[in-house]
Amino acid sequence: MNNFQKALDLTTDSLRKLSESGSSLRGSRDSLRRLAAARPEPARFPADKSPAKIPAKPTLGAASAPSLDTFPTTGATKQARIEQLRAAVVPCTLCPQLARTRTQTVFGIGNIDALIMFVGEAPGADEDQQGEPFVGKAGQLLTKIIETMGIKRSDVFIANVLKCRPDMPPGSSGNRRPSASEMQTCLPYLRAQIDVIKPSVLVALGAVAMEGLLGSVEPMSRLRGRWHEFQGIPLMATYHPAYLLRNQSLAEKRKVWEDMLLVMERVGLPITDKHRGYFL
Ligand code: URA
Repeated sequence: MNNFQKALDLTTDSLRKLSESGSSLRGSRDSLRRLAAARPEPARFPADKSPAKIPAKPTLGAASAPSLDTFPTTGATKQARIEQLRAAVVPCTLCPQLARTRTQTVFGIGNIDALIMFVGEAPGADEDQQGEPFVGKAGQLLTKIIETMGIKRSDVFIANVLKCRPDMPPGSSGNRRPSASEMQTCLPYLRAQIDVIKPSVLVALGAVAMEGLLGSVEPMSRLRGRWHEFQGIPLMATYHPAYLLRNQSLAEKRKVWEDMLLVMERVGLPITDKHRGYFL
């Protein structure tokens, strides 16, 4: 119990006793002064956690869709800036229906100094439950792909365009693809994450992620295997791991692998003959 609470309890106790004894009710000036002196200071926040610096929630609607400037991060360090962003994402209600049905927002995870940042479309049921992107079957395959590149999952940063699981009609299982307007509404969070992390390379997993990033609605067969650009950062497009789970042919695995070889080359990861020969 703090001093203020103790003083308040003592004062109310005395007033109750006075009242019960029939005396006239008067708090002495001195007791009121002591009570005022014990009042707690307003809560103080560490400099970069001040609510004034956590950007106001942007308003809904495509016309007023938040821009990158909506989430300026002012912390001195990358860690402080990413935590500011997380604090903005966690309570987000920009898509009221998604906010109502999600278990939690899924911010993203990994190394904020990563050279490579993977971007998926949206959390599924497993991700919604665990609060981490790519933890279901597709996520386990993504982890395998990353490890085959000779690095660890914790070396990269993984996020989605959408931070909430797209809601499903009651009683139905599975996941739905995020709508263009949901992705447009949520994109500024990803933009801000990229702005803080500044990876050397972005990898979009699937055509929906590419649509979310660039607004392009081309099939992955035409997008993959070549460099695009997002916020001035080279962007590789490749098939979503869930696609590989559905199409287990060596030829499809090889396509994704060739995209990853391009990524490895770009960031200077060592490439052995064994690497070059996978899935041939
Ligand atoms: N698919 C995605 O696009 N993102 C996830 O986090 C999981 C599955």
